[in-house]
Formats: sequence, structure tokens, C-alpha cells
Amino acid sequence: MRIGIMGAMTEEVDSIHSHMTNVKEFEHGDRKYYIGNINSHEVVLVFSRWGKVASAATVTSLITEFKIDHLIFTGVAGAADPSLNIGDIVVSEQLYQHDMDARPLFKKHQIPLTKITFFQADPLLKEKAHRATDGLFASLTAKIPAESLARFNIRELKCRFGTIATGDQFIYSRERTEAILADVPETVAVEMEGGAVAQVCNDYKIPFVVIRTISDKADHTSEIDFPAFINEVARHYSEHIVTGMLRL
Ligand code: SAH
Repeated sequence: MRIGIMGAMTEEVDSIHSHMTNVKEFEHGDRKYYIGNINSHEVVLVFSRWGKVASAATVTSLITEFKIDHLIFTGVAGAADPSLNIGDIVVSEQLYQHDMDARPLFKKHQIPLTKITFFQADPLLKEKAHRATDGLFASLTAKIPAESLARFNIRELKCRFGTIATGDQFIYSRERTEAILADVPETVAVEMEGGAVAQVCNDYKIPFVVIRTISDKADHTSEIDFPAFINEVARHYSEHIVTGMLRL
């Protein structure tokens, strides 16, 4: 069994890479793929790049060239559900593309010729991802300086299953988030890759899960210091969750 790991941030890819053994590096389609092991599992790790086309191209290569048969995707996302805080985690229940609109030929958000709007994540991977967040807060407080946690106001950590909206837009206004919620009220997080990756996985029948750390509130306050959040906080999440999933 070969497990594909896609990270949407180079920092999290570097952190996961540091847990790999027997690593071999391959260049393909302007991306670097790392094949190796984490514990007893054979894995292929790659930086997804950003947006739907880039991430769809990356996962297609993972599947067709690097022969993965499961996919774990990690990254950060904006919160659409106001009860989510920066530092909380969303594990994908299902994903859709909020910017797909081929009406009147197809229903809003439906992917042409598939009859699918919502792509379902794999139940087993979802459970593993959720379980791998056990002990995360304790390990974060050990690894991340208290000032960093305080700076991002991280005092506890929720992990929630939910619906993720994907589109080729960085969402930084509450109006845009409200418009997305008006269409699909159960949306909990917004990002730029998951729904596209899910579509490709569905074509090839590859079980997948998308795991997102909330990095911003998808509104005008998305003025958070993005690189600092990734570097100081988010990369520890992906590292803990992915290595935890591969231990179980
Ligand atoms: N780190 C970059 C910003 C990356 S933003 C910088 O230095 O400026 C793009 C990534 O963040 C994508 O992987 C996307 O999925 C995710 N993301 C986080 N918050 C988002 C939001 N509010 N809207 C859309 N994508 C978001």
C-alpha cells in the first residue's frame, strides 16, 4: 500500500519530510515528489501548490505516476463557521467547489458530467485523522512557545468533521463568506484545493481525506500574520496528525 501525502504549505511538507526514512526524490511536472517510509508505511510526499488546477495536476501525478492508493491532504483554511477559532481543525466530511457554476446546463456547484456536487471523504481515513488529533494540544504546548500560542489566541483546540468549500479565490471578506453560506449553509471552512483534489480522487476511486487547520476567519480580519502562523503553529499540526495517522 502506498499513501500519498499532499501538503498545501512548504513548511508542513518540510516537517513531514523530517519523519521520512529511505527518501528518494523525483522531479515530475515541475514538482518534487519524495518517496520513502514513515514507520512501516510507504509514502509519497509532495507540495500540492495552490489553487484547483495546480493541486489537481499534482494529485493526478501522485495517482498515475507514483501509484498511490490512499491520499491524505493537509493545509490551512479560513473558517466559514464563526464558532471555529484560529487553531481549530476541520476534517473533511465532504467537499464541493463554490465557484463551479455551469447553470443552466447543470445545477449550481455540480461538477459537469459527474452528477456530483459533494465529494465524500473516506470514512476510515476520516476517523483516523480525528483520532490522530488526540493529544495534539498537549504536544503543541510542549513544542510551541507560549507567546506564539497567546499571539494567535490558541487556548484550546476543537477538531470537527464538516463540509469544506473550495474555489480559486482567497476569501477575505465576510460578504463573500456569507454568500457561500447562503448557498450551502453547512459549509464550515473555505480553501483553494480540497474539492479539486477530491474530484480527481473520485475519478480514480482513491480514498482520501482533507485535514485543515483554521488559519483565519475568512473575513477582513484575515490580517493575521500568515507565514508566522504556518511556521510557528500550523506545521506542528500536520506533523502530529500525519505521523499519528501512520502510526495507527
Ligand atoms: N502562505 C501564503 C498564503 C497562502 S494562501 C502567504 O505567505 O501569503 C493559500 C493557501 O491557504 C491555500 O492552500 C488555501 O487553501 C489556504 N487558505 C487559507 N485561508 C484561506 C481563505 N480564507 N480563503 C481561501 N483559501 C485559504
